[in-house]
Amino acid sequence: MSVDPGLCATCAHAQRIASAKGSVFWRCREHDRDPQWPKYPPLPVRRCARFTPTAADG
Ligand code: SF4
Repeated sequence: MSVDPGLCATCAHAQRIASAKGSVFWRCREHDRDPQWPKYPPLPVRRCARFTPTAADG
């Protein structure tokens, strides 16, 4: 089963984590430098103030 992560899919801060059972989680690395920021944002993310497109995306 795959989740639609929305913006996180193409964000430089996103880290895709696949469990052994096949579940996929999207972790936001912004949380590492700002603990107030959610580690696991509710998906799909449609708007995000910290969205940063990956270099590969454009
Ligand atoms: S900054 Fe926003 S769009 Fe980027 S990974 Fe975090 S929650 Fe997703």
